Amino acid sequence: MTGTRQRSLHQAAVDQFQRAADLIDLNEAYREILSYPKNEIIVNFPVALDDGTRKVFTGYRIQHNNLLGPYKGGLRFHQDVDLDEVKALAAWMTFKTALVGVPFGGAKGGVTIDPAGYSDDEMRRVVRRFTHALGSNIGPDHDIPAPDMGTSSKTMDWVMDTYANISPPGFRHSVKGVVTGKSIEVGGSVGREEATGRGVLYSLRHWCGETGSRLDELTAAVQGFGNVGGHFCELAAEAGVTITGVSDHTGTITNEDGIDIAKLRLWSAENGGIDGFPGAEAVDTEALFALPIDVFVPAALENQITVERAAKLRCSLIIEAANGPTAADAEPILADRAIEIVPDILANAGGVIVSYFEWLQNKSARAWSFADVDERLRDLVWQAHDRVVERRRQLDCTRREAAYVVALDRIADVYDRRGIFP
Ligand code: NAD
Repeated sequence: MTGTRQRSLHQAAVDQFQRAADLIDLNEAYREILSYPKNEIIVNFPVALDDGTRKVFTGYRIQHNNLLGPYKGGLRFHQDVDLDEVKALAAWMTFKTALVGVPFGGAKGGVTIDPAGYSDDEMRRVVRRFTHALGSNIGPDHDIPAPDMGTSSKTMDWVMDTYANISPPGFRHSVKGVVTGKSIEVGGSVGREEATGRGVLYSLRHWCGETGSRLDELTAAVQGFGNVGGHFCELAAEAGVTITGVSDHTGTITNEDGIDIAKLRLWSAENGGIDGFPGAEAVDTEALFALPIDVFVPAALENQITVERAAKLRCSLIIEAANGPTAADAEPILADRAIEIVPDILANAGGVIVSYFEWLQNKSARAWSFADVDERLRDLVWQAHDRVVERRRQLDCTRREAAYVVALDRIADVYDRRGIFP
């Protein structure tokens, strides 16, 4: 992606929060602090491959800010991962955790690798060696990774196990909270796997409440059918939303009567992607962006809604399930066309919210019920939306700007009280 990226993603992330900072006249020192990550950790580590050779991989952990709590954010395994991308993703985490009021800062990490090109054994060695290379730069009260693109509960189980094994014997059971998104058997939380998709659906429900719309009258198209997109589709379809278009890295499909999502999930699991699904028509990638729908849900990569696609979209709402899916220069076009955006730091915060619940459960050695997790998730998503609506009304700004303002209000208040060391 580096070659095709028009401009720095991190700079775009900085510009985003600076626009909101202007609205509240944020202190210059806080602006400058938030424009840089606190720590940029880059590790190059060798891994034994199945054929007996060794390959050196590059991994990153960017710790953006820890004013409100330990650094928190996912690990991405993708061939396009680079320093600029991880810096942007880390900054967005700081604003996301502040916005929804969980006691964490922001971080992100990743390895430049295409997981599809390696065996399960090779991936396990990559994860263990990367975790070992990060060493004490992560920790349950310091920096807590979670899944993101290309990683899963299996990855988190390996990170936790490696971290436990390099911890002193007396601490091996108290370090479970070094990562969230683990499998339930290993110390994960019920409801974490689908939490981001569920949070996206709660965001859609909130918008329905604001606009007097009904879920069972809405049509939607979704880009990405992985953890976030797949779970969102499943939950939204159960709630009555008609999903008429879906894409993933293998193809794009449409069915104007609605795609049978349960069948598509099975197909995708068996075939490694949605391509060839018999219950829909295969179309060109660009067709997804021209479907007549109510809601477009990007749930894959950054910068997918470009200027050209913004001009083509035929929807009234974009819910940003992915991080940074809307290119900065596309946003004015969407505004002119009265296409509303529920921004990423609000729409996809369900994952970090339930990660917080998992961390609390690990700390207290307790397991919550699904009902407990779900009710508290809904409350936190709902409260964040309510605060954003209120700040938007006061400042007469976009929903994205208002979301950043809510986050910056909280960060600035704590900086004011604590001061800047020394
Ligand atoms: P994933 O790896 O589970 O799934 C990614 C999906 O995107 C796959 O279906 C893949 O085929 C698809 N994809 C990749 N390239 C594509 C392309 N060019 N066109 C269409 N589809 C493409 O990843 P995920 O965890 O679902 O993450 C998706 C997005 O959500 C990312 O932006 C991530 O940062 C964000 N996010 C994830 C979580 C989480 O809890 N997993 C939380 C918050 C935000």
